[in-house]
Amino acid sequence: MNRAVYPGSFDPFTNGHLDVTERGATIFDELIVAVLINSEKRAMFSVEERQMMVREAVVHLPNVKVMSFEGLLVDFMRQGRSRVILRGLRALSDFEYEFQIAQMNKQLAPETETFFLVTDARYSYLSSRGVKEVFQFGGSIQEFVPPGVFRRMRERILPKKMA
Ligand code: ADP
Repeated sequence: MNRAVYPGSFDPFTNGHLDVTERGATIFDELIVAVLINSEKRAMFSVEERQMMVREAVVHLPNVKVMSFEGLLVDFMRQGRSRVILRGLRALSDFEYEFQIAQMNKQLAPETETFFLVTDARYSYLSSRGVKEVFQFGGSIQEFVPPGVFRRMRERILPKKMA
């Protein structure tokens, strides 16, 4: 069984993440989307909310599982007996960061391999951070995120707007 792990903060899960997941699911027998429980990064959504949103978005992909993890990714990989880390690459700016993490993970766990999927041009500008910024200033984010994520983000802002 060829199992890969796609780790990330996914705060929130965007159409770019979904595209990487869908393509990854055609390459590997099983793909685990692993939501990072990040203690220092201030997240918009709790890890439970983020997991739920990913689950809704990948419901059409039977070989994709959604989990969360804390601490070192390589420890999570070893527990799940998975060797392949799937990541997405957008621009050169991603490359430096991704290159560092991939080499660090290799150092920590030589059996791991990081597998990169180059973003689909339609999503090359798309980031969770960008989506949150547009959303905070009242812009439309409907075309950037899966419908379930859009719904939850809208619910989040409504009580404030009504107050
Ligand atoms: P991080 O893990 O650094 O917190 P994210 O959760 O935003 O980052 O993203 C997880 C992974 O998905 C990273 O490898 C990131 O480069 C990739 N990714 C994010 N947005 C896109 C996109 N639009 N197209 C392709 N890959 C993407």
